[in-house]
Amino acid sequence: MKPAGTILAVPHLSVRPQSVVSRADGEWALAHANGLDKLVIRPAAGHDDVLRGFDGELGEHDGRRLLIGPASARNAAVLREQLSWLAPQLVGHRTSFGFGDRLGLATPGHVRALKAAGGSIIPVFAQQSARELARTVRTAADVLNAATWGAFAEGWTGPQGADADHLKTTADIDAFCAAGFTMFTIDPGDHVGQIEPDATAGDLRIGFAALPWLELEESPTALLARYAGRVFDIEGLPLGFSEETLVRAAIKYARAVVHVAKMYRHLVAVAGARVVELEVSVDETDTPTSPAEHVFVATELRRLGVTWTSLAPRLVGRFEKGVDYIGHAAAFEADWMVHAAIARVLGPYKLSLHSGSDKFSIYKAVATHTRGVVHVKTAGTSWLEALRTLAATDRRLFRELYGFARERYDADRASYHVSARVDAAPDPATLSDDQLPALLDDFHARQVLHVTFGSILTAADSEGSGRFSHRIMAGLRTRAEDYAANLETHFVRHLRPFAAASTGA
Ligand SMILES: [Zn+2]
Repeated sequence: MKPAGTILAVPHLSVRPQSVVSRADGEWALAHANGLDKLVIRPAAGHDDVLRGFDGELGEHDGRRLLIGPASARNAAVLREQLSWLAPQLVGHRTSFGFGDRLGLATPGHVRALKAAGGSIIPVFAQQSARELARTVRTAADVLNAATWGAFAEGWTGPQGADADHLKTTADIDAFCAAGFTMFTIDPGDHVGQIEPDATAGDLRIGFAALPWLELEESPTALLARYAGRVFDIEGLPLGFSEETLVRAAIKYARAVVHVAKMYRHLVAVAGARVVELEVSVDETDTPTSPAEHVFVATELRRLGVTWTSLAPRLVGRFEKGVDYIGHAAAFEADWMVHAAIARVLGPYKLSLHSGSDKFSIYKAVATHTRGVVHVKTAGTSWLEALRTLAATDRRLFRELYGFARERYDADRASYHVSARVDAAPDPATLSDDQLPALLDDFHARQVLHVTFGSILTAADSEGSGRFSHRIMAGLRTRAEDYAANLETHFVRHLRPFAAASTGA
């Protein structure tokens, strides 16, 4: 029964019941008509002003005006103003979780997982790196709008953040800032210095002298004097700096600190009156960030006037894409505890866990030792759930994708931390159709499919249009329920340990 006199009773529209927003001034919902998503608004009597700014066709139903409009960029922007919870906001130190969505269709499944996991985790639905934007041929606004429509469709009315991830240039900041993102993750990885294992005292002296002292607003002697003999009390753990420890930390991270400060000042200038928050991320570098290096980075960033909400050190062990943690869980835990304590003593700020998908064996330690003051980022694992959905519903397409991914893997893996080998990934010719979904549980096949997303999505046929992308999107739209169910199952496992420690309430 459709209740008469409500937005659900409008004929010729199938309204998603979970999307309905009912307020004193009107009703809003997402509907499906002729294969397209439609925004439907039914103002309360005397409240036609709520229609202002929206695109669409104005009609009448049951004595009230009715607007049916497209799920367009413009309507998403006006909707964010009207239903304010759909607009990204600052997450601060509350427990948060980043769901990257490269296709723009995953947010409903992410919402279901959040609701099922309980707790009070603040979601970051819109999260994309500058690199991912290029590889998916999307704009920052596309990413934000997809998150808006997805959250609206599934009835998410809690707060949410929006993360412009792994930004390397000021132009990256400009693009995401203009689109309305609120969290900016600065990646100074290209400015992290390398120290050769056989570096001599003389090499270190030369490296230290060559640091950008002007931009550091400091002299070598003053820096040395500030740390010499100083012992930081990290919740009872004494952390001292010898001259060599300091010199090595400076050679490795001083240029990165300078770069973050530059990016931060640029962000503050372009954001103007808008509120934004910063994450500092050095996770994609070669060697782990030692506790002393973490202390150095935080101390020097603060001295240069940078304010940040979260920091992602490079952690011990291997954080490969789409698979569990590789390394000694106990060693990870011991290291993580120290980083969490440093973040409390020198901040407090959140620790951020990057490449955070599928790291089931360490989540409990990650959540407890930070006392929930933590952010986790995932991205490609939602893409893999999309492929799991296709593997069960469009086997021909999935076979083509997997075959193509195997061809592309050796070239595409270059910019990722992965160790899978094509020759170890199951040969599709030997697999029956029923065996295809299990490829999404195979270490090698997962990584092969994970890092080739850009090649798959941008592959063109002989006429220059998408070789796979249209079929992938159409398949997932048709199978939206299956995709959401797969995402829910997969993400509930990610979220539960963090829900238990969450601080968002
Ligand atoms: Zn990262």
